[in-house]
Amino acid sequence: MKRKSPQGIKEESMSILVVGSVAFDSVETPFGKVDEVLGGSATYFSSSASFFSDVNLVAVVGEDFPDAHLDFLRSRNVDLAGLQRAPGETFRWRGRYGYDLNEAQTLDTRLNVFQDFRPDLPENYRDADFVFLANIDPELQLEVLRQVRKPRLVACDTMNFWISGKRAALLETLKHVDILVINEAEARQLAEEANLSRAARRILDLGPETVVIKRGEYGVIMFNAHSIFAAPAYPLEEVFDPTGAGDTFAGGFMGYLAANRNLAEQSLRRAIVFGSVMASFTVEDFSLNRLRELDYAAIEDRYHRVRLLTEFDGPA
Ligand code: AMP
Repeated sequence: MKRKSPQGIKEESMSILVVGSVAFDSVETPFGKVDEVLGGSATYFSSSASFFSDVNLVAVVGEDFPDAHLDFLRSRNVDLAGLQRAPGETFRWRGRYGYDLNEAQTLDTRLNVFQDFRPDLPENYRDADFVFLANIDPELQLEVLRQVRKPRLVACDTMNFWISGKRAALLETLKHVDILVINEAEARQLAEEANLSRAARRILDLGPETVVIKRGEYGVIMFNAHSIFAAPAYPLEEVFDPTGAGDTFAGGFMGYLAANRNLAEQSLRRAIVFGSVMASFTVEDFSLNRLRELDYAAIEDRYHRVRLLTEFDGPA
């Protein structure tokens, strides 16, 4: 599929393979409450990445998952050949946020059909160049990696549930990952280190060449052996629901990289800003509601606003 980016790229972009959760979320924030709405790390990721690249999705849903949600993903050009439907119930997550919207409190996690899920990648997914291991059981992340032949870039996300529950498998996954995208509290938990810069260094020792730390409304910091880059979050007056911000960030980040086919530092930095821009839309409404009505012109507009926001050494 041909897409345009602000850098004028119109060639065929590479497709991204993603494994992660497709879920029903029930969320409470100080501004409202929703029950059993469309969510999941792979859902947010693929909806966001699909503005830049084609996405092949690997996940499982239960018999209770409505076709309308699948139609939405198809309408975003997400390939669902790797999405299995299994007997049983879809993954469910229930969470709550207080006025500090930066950290979710998990009230309930039901793996349901993910409990017995064994990914079996369609043949055309196995040559993927860009792989994103979205937040899910690290054993499933590893299983997907085993089936992919020679990826150019493997990035990964995770959360406290897996850091404490499946630490050994997660450490194994990280040995095969180029970029870890993780939120601030989870970076500290994974590294067992309170200082964020030192936590980042420790994470780099676990395998990834680059670690991207998401800090909610305070933006993002990227660390690698040679440099540190920080980008602000786009300042919003209305934030309704931060659920999915991290996955939406990762979708914009990977989507841009796959569209660009360029992994140089400059490209990674632009990808970080595209990721932040995508996340800034998601938090403006519950579930994927804002992403549903988004168009590329709005993304481009916000990207330029972030550039102006951080301009300090050039023409004002
Ligand atoms: P985030 O982008 O970090 O806000 O991720 C939110 C999404 O993660 C929600 O839509 C949930 O369905 C999903 N989620 C929550 N807990 C888990 C888990 N343990 N494994 C996989 N996905 C999860």
